[in-house]
Amino acid sequence: EGALDVDWARRFVAEAAAVVAEHRVELSELDRLIGDGDHGENLARGFSAVTAAMEPAEPATVGDVLKLVATTLMSTVGGAAGPLYGTAFLRAAKVTAVPAVDAQGVHSLLDAALEGVVARGKAQVGDKTMVDAWHPAVEAASAAAEAGSSPAQVLRAAAEAAAVGAASTDDLVALKGRASYLGERSVGHRDPGAASTVLLLDAAARAATD
Ligand code: ADP
Ligand code: MG
Ligand code: MG
Repeated sequence: EGALDVDWARRFVAEAAAVVAEHRVELSELDRLIGDGDHGENLARGFSAVTAAMEPAEPATVGDVLKLVATTLMSTVGGAAGPLYGTAFLRAAKVTAVPAVDAQGVHSLLDAALEGVVARGKAQVGDKTMVDAWHPAVEAASAAAEAGSSPAQVLRAAAEAAAVGAASTDDLVALKGRASYLGERSVGHRDPGAASTVLLLDAAARAATD
């Protein structure tokens, strides 16, 4: 009931591209405070390339869409976030080689994405990275799926937990990525990758309807 199909995946891509474009300046401003100020530009460039790549595509499975997102982000985003999100989407694609994904499948998709981020970046919870948004998102998705929530509700729970996780990065010292060069001076600022993770999960939730 309410399984997420290829049309959901297409809507997710469109919503993600729109929200990243809308928050481009804000994400780069966060990155300017503790990094090199390019996170919004990097993702906006990546997601416009994804939008262009989607147009002629004829995906048969959710995984086909996520794989196209992965390969396009890997070749266009650069920096730290390109390989991190690229690996996340690639791992998610591998567990969604099906026409539609149920609530448990949504949890598996998000769990695979988190594993990709961790495999690539080796960050732990508390290091002030996108892992601080992804990890609680996966925990919330697991709980929601276990409780019998719909796929859309699982995504909504994940997005809400990611937002709390991203806010928690404000008080943390960065231990990975460029922000770690600042040490204690990174405290008081939100991690840009955690902020963009919230936007992407929120786009995924909005693309889903019960
Ligand atoms: P760059 O730092 O190369 O300019 P971006 O600005 O696009 O790349 O992305 C920075 C974001 O990448 C950070 O805010 C953080 O969330 C994420 N990040 C950086 N290093 C790691 C890591 N080792 N593990 C997880 N996430 C990381
Ligand atoms: Mg940067
Ligand atoms: Mg950079």
